[in-house]
Amino acid sequence: MHQMRVTIVYDNRALPGFKAAWGFSCLIEHGMNILFDTGGNAKILRHNMEKLGISLDAIDAIFISHAHRDHAGGLKGLPFRGAVFVPPSSKLEGVKIEEGEFLPDFIATGERYGERSLVVRDGNEVVVITGCAHNGLEYVLHTAAEYGSIKAVIGGFHDFRDIAMLRHYPLVVPCHCTVHKREIERFENAQPCRAGGVIHL
Ligand SMILES: [Zn+2]
Ligand SMILES: [Zn+2]
Repeated sequence: MHQMRVTIVYDNRALPGFKAAWGFSCLIEHGMNILFDTGGNAKILRHNMEKLGISLDAIDAIFISHAHRDHAGGLKGLPFRGAVFVPPSSKLEGVKIEEGEFLPDFIATGERYGERSLVVRDGNEVVVITGCAHNGLEYVLHTAAEYGSIKAVIGGFHDFRDIAMLRHYPLVVPCHCTVHKREIERFENAQPCRAGGVIHL
């Protein structure tokens, strides 16, 4: 089986040489190359992509978690010709998908409070990717568990409070808007999130 890789392209924090800005985007490589969200600014997104050696042509599709500027703003000014999957309620231009598998191993959770998350299946396990988790991280984890055993949770967790439950998963990467980032990063299973960082799964 091929290895899955998640690369943080856009985040509030960045590794040296990368640009940091409020927002989130990551690239998931798992059979296909899917860009999850675009951050708020296409220039910053493209700067970080270039630095990582990610060409726009190598991206098969873009998945937008929710229509907030810091997640979908980068779409403007991105000359991307592939499919852009957007939440059904959003006014964004793109393919509107309901809950379920929309590409092989790529599953969208149902939309809730304008946002949905991405579940990537790897055999019997799944990796969960969230934008801001306005849809509620507990709900997302509950949904994801229906598709497999959760091996990693990556993304913005917003004001999710029940952080102790995150200790149960092999890997947790709190990004972007996560209010309790400092506390979660102290967990043994946590890895810091920074633009330019690569997570091997
Ligand atoms: Zn956000
Ligand atoms: Zn948001």
